[in-house]
Amino acid sequence: MNRLFVQTPVRDLDSDTAAAELAFLAQEITKHDIAYHQNDSPTISDDDYDALRRRNDDLEAQFPELVREDSPSKNVGATVREGFCKITHSRPMLSLGNAFSESDVQEFTDRVFRFLTLAKSEVLEFAAEPKVDGLSLSVRYEKGRLLHAVTRGDGSVGEDVTRNVETIDDIPQKLSGSFPDILEIRGEVYMSKPDFVDLNARQKSLGEKTFANPRNAAAGSLRQHNPNITADRPLRFFGYAWGEVSEKLGETLWEARTHIGAWGFKLNEPAALCHSTEALISYYTEMKSRRAELSFDIDGIVYKVNRLDWQERLGFVSRAPRWAIAHKFPAERAETRLNQITIQVGRTGTLTPVANLEPTIVGGVSVSRATLHNEDEIHRKDIREGDWVIVQRAGDVIPQVVEVVKTKREASNVPFDFPNFCPECGRPAVRKGGEAARRCTGGLVCPAQAVERLKHFVSRDALDIEGLGGTHIETLWEDGLIGSPADIFRLAERRNDLLSREGWGEKSIDNLADSLRQRRSVELQRFIFALGIRQVGQATARLMAKHYGRLEQWISAMVAAYDRESGAYRELVDIDGVGAGVADEIIQFFANPDNIRILDDLGRYIEVEDFVYAENFRSPVADKTVVFTGKLETIGRSEAKARAEELGAKVSGSVSKKTDIVVAGPGAGSKLQKAEELGLSVLSEQEWLTLIT
Ligand code: AMP
Ligand code: ZN
Repeated sequence: MNRLFVQTPVRDLDSDTAAAELAFLAQEITKHDIAYHQNDSPTISDDDYDALRRRNDDLEAQFPELVREDSPSKNVGATVREGFCKITHSRPMLSLGNAFSESDVQEFTDRVFRFLTLAKSEVLEFAAEPKVDGLSLSVRYEKGRLLHAVTRGDGSVGEDVTRNVETIDDIPQKLSGSFPDILEIRGEVYMSKPDFVDLNARQKSLGEKTFANPRNAAAGSLRQHNPNITADRPLRFFGYAWGEVSEKLGETLWEARTHIGAWGFKLNEPAALCHSTEALISYYTEMKSRRAELSFDIDGIVYKVNRLDWQERLGFVSRAPRWAIAHKFPAERAETRLNQITIQVGRTGTLTPVANLEPTIVGGVSVSRATLHNEDEIHRKDIREGDWVIVQRAGDVIPQVVEVVKTKREASNVPFDFPNFCPECGRPAVRKGGEAARRCTGGLVCPAQAVERLKHFVSRDALDIEGLGGTHIETLWEDGLIGSPADIFRLAERRNDLLSREGWGEKSIDNLADSLRQRRSVELQRFIFALGIRQVGQATARLMAKHYGRLEQWISAMVAAYDRESGAYRELVDIDGVGAGVADEIIQFFANPDNIRILDDLGRYIEVEDFVYAENFRSPVADKTVVFTGKLETIGRSEAKARAEELGAKVSGSVSKKTDIVVAGPGAGSKLQKAEELGLSVLSEQEWLTLIT
């Protein structure tokens, strides 16, 4: 995660920097929302996520004029996952503001006091309840019968999960006692800690995906397209709130909770009524110490104004009620011994150090491994094998090593020597300047990377081999049928091997053979892209193809460029759009004899076509009429015109209704004005260049 921003205090920022940061945060938070809500697999810890949200809030408070349309503060979660029907909530399902310290809590109670203009003598009563770490759900009853159940979604529209919810015992199909005609009960779907452990054990024995924590397990189980799967998962539910109701639920939240229980719901206990900030804090402190004993995960305490009329007066601010706040618990920690540091090689070749721990319970879950992130992190924290360490789990995917307990260090524990070779393939693992990660240079011969490289090789923008998807590649690779790109072409000769495999029939093999045949001749830029050299995306591949023209020429130039003093090297880095970093990656690829061998092998099956200009490139400006006006700063007017024409565009000197694109530089006058009158698309020079390269 980019933490650069998080360091400057908000009050020291100028408005441009703040705007840039808000744009960054909007993107970053949305990304994490999607990972968390839509894919049920978060990639950062809750603490880090909260920090991003808090930063966003702080910035918006300081720069209210910069609040973005797509600001995360206007949105409580992620949008609904495809495949479920959408239901609009009768009343939005909101989020909660957070408190992290006692002074945050004090501020909250003061704010409520002030808002209600209560006299000093008035007693403000709060209900304090465990904040259950699951996912929120709204269940609608009409005349006591369950009508539908909807997830929070983005707060206003959620997913219809009624069929799945019907399999949850804690959610009654029919209400007991007397109840309002229309009643929406809201609360939390969760999985108990012991059920979570059992489920993961079961998943593991079936070779299925295991879940990072009970919350993800609950989310993944509820949002199944097949209700039978949900029925198999031990989901539970607590009711603690409501949406639309046709009658009042009482005078206080406490009273409403009694009703909710009487209608047949489980309540998130233990809850307490508190009459002062001190009482809230002492309830919080007690719950924090009892947290591990509870059968379900909680990530804090929610304080809510008890009187419902006061709740109404307090109302909402942006996405959260003014009458409630979540007081979050700090991450759960434990002390244990770090037995060994092992190195994992990811699919992109990154070496990640992993701490193998003496198993310990952190927040009710057994932890035996934790991530150490990278080499620098190990050195910064001076983590050594045999050390006692503090491990933290914050609802995260992977527990982390926070620090070493230095007082317990034994003299025999030596600093960790990070390997400079890949444990999977034995090839050198190198670290580029400025990068935190050390990467294996084994490329296609490294088993850790091979699968990903092969998938890339056959993908649409690369060789585009139809009939060979990602899962095929995985299983074929696992069973040793393919190891290198050329093996993919050899599949055509292994008809019988394929036929004996599940999922392959005469027809699918014929299709595969067909597409392999078609791909025996491939454009140079596709071929270069397909090699999967780091940092060589489609655009760079095209630059290479265009510049060197023929495969043989490119290869010999890249081999020669190994010598940084050579003309070949200078020529490479002089290509507009190829920096020294990209050049290094390409040179390194060719410096590896394994890669040369793989290329030779491929050469027996593929013919790589020489680069042909316009034909090969589906130009976005082909057949468009373009007008240049004003001063062009990076390319001259005549070069711009020539390039546009090469790409199939018609260049015209005057603006009319037939004009498609106007590229306007500084000093553009009447042509620009005319273009604007006609509502034409006007691009800056930079935008134009982005469009055509
Ligand atoms: P957050 O997702 O951190 O914004 O917190 C808000 C969410 O906390 C709500 O949408 C609920 O799903 C959840 N939550 C868990 N326990 C409670 C509770 N006792 N009262 C209100 N919300 C709760
Ligand atoms: Zn390797």
